[in-house]
Amino acid sequence: MDNKNVGKNDLQKLCAVLAKEFVFAHKLNSMARQASADRAWLAIKHFYDNCQTNKPGKKGFPRFKKRGHSVEYKTSGWKLSAERKHITFTDGFKAGKLKLVGTRELSFYSVKQIKRVRIIKRADGYYCQFCVDVERKIPHQHCGRQVGIDVGLEFFYTDSNGNTVDNPRLLRQAEKSLKRQQRRVSQRKKGSSNRRKAVQKLAKKHLKVSRQRKDFVVKTARALVQSSDLVVYVSEAGRSPDLQVKNMVKNRHLAKSISDVSWSLFTNWIDYYAKVFDIWAIAVAPHYTSTDCSVCGTRVKKSLSTRTHRCHSCGTVMHRDHNAAKLILLKGINSVPSGRRDLFFTEQQPACEPVNRIMVLFLLQFRHLDQKRLRNETGA
Ligand SMILES: [Zn+2]
Repeated sequence: MDNKNVGKNDLQKLCAVLAKEFVFAHKLNSMARQASADRAWLAIKHFYDNCQTNKPGKKGFPRFKKRGHSVEYKTSGWKLSAERKHITFTDGFKAGKLKLVGTRELSFYSVKQIKRVRIIKRADGYYCQFCVDVERKIPHQHCGRQVGIDVGLEFFYTDSNGNTVDNPRLLRQAEKSLKRQQRRVSQRKKGSSNRRKAVQKLAKKHLKVSRQRKDFVVKTARALVQSSDLVVYVSEAGRSPDLQVKNMVKNRHLAKSISDVSWSLFTNWIDYYAKVFDIWAIAVAPHYTSTDCSVCGTRVKKSLSTRTHRCHSCGTVMHRDHNAAKLILLKGINSVPSGRRDLFFTEQQPACEPVNRIMVLFLLQFRHLDQKRLRNETGA
């Protein structure tokens, strides 16, 4: 970071040097060393990009990770047993043979399909993740349903047909017990083993909330995609800065509710399932979706607290999120060249060649989620 013009390759080379200098770096498998250099470079690049584009607010200066919580291996340094129930790490750390506990079956995949193996420390134990390179496709029943969705605080989302899904408010529910545990931590003497135990318990409780949240988000996204042929949502990146989640979280009154709803996690999973079920998922910029009338297009200004859209021009009255969801759907349809639009209305699947290319383009704006992630608990 202190030297100019240091690139990704220099970091990779530095790994080999460090390996001679430090015992722990030498013990680690060479490809795992490179993987950690890759991750460090990503963090640095992210920071540089933010500076270059002069992103407002924090630039994300890379932080030195004191305690590593995960190690990533590529295709060497580990070996699966013949029946795929044990994994042995073969590098200098001599972590030895670990039993894979869990319901996931690894024997469906060849070892060549496993591109990454990660060991992750969570509050309740160690986990082993496998990134497996597979095409996951589930046949989708055409139903002619197209939805635009608007996420919000009142409801988790509202779709363009006026249906709503409630917010689970998981953090709120667990709050009491989290607070109690937090108090216990601060009452214990620093450095004592009782404090360490209390911290461990608190971490477990937080882990539980985050798992419940993920579970809700994944199931909701799957249900939505499964029952639609087209899903249009607002992209987080396209929001104006004052409406982006990370800035809204600074508003103390809204903070807790917002960080509790995890919208971007939701849209990532919509993208993932759209690929799996082979349907269209389109992200649009949110401009004016909260003001314009979805029937006649008149701009009706309203504050965040006004929950109803009342159009003075055509007399339409509906919930503001419902109105926004309708506009979002329209925007999504309009973002596709008119010659292709009829494809939404026919049985034709987007799998046919030219359309597929468009679909990939849309999805490339987001994370590649082609690789299915399997989680297996490892008990040493
Ligand atoms: Zn109107």
